[in-house]
Amino acid sequence: MVCVSIQTTRYSRGRRVHTLVSCPFCGHDFQPNEPRWKHLLDEHDPEDAGLTPAGEIAPGHDAPLFGGVQR
Ligand SMILES: [Zn+2]
Repeated sequence: MVCVSIQTTRYSRGRRVHTLVSCPFCGHDFQPNEPRWKHLLDEHDPEDAGLTPAGEIAPGHDAPLFGGVQR
């Protein structure tokens, strides 16, 4: 199943507007003027996006991204 969360509308002069039409985490369909940020803050936690819980620091968070680089 393919879930489309973003709708792109093209206007004159190539201007494009991207609109979140459904929640990528739970599939909630947004009403046209519904504030997306409110749903995301009220209904979801960072874990829904694969992040560590709020206020928790992941072990190894300060490790270098690239190791073993020779100069
Ligand atoms: Zn949601």
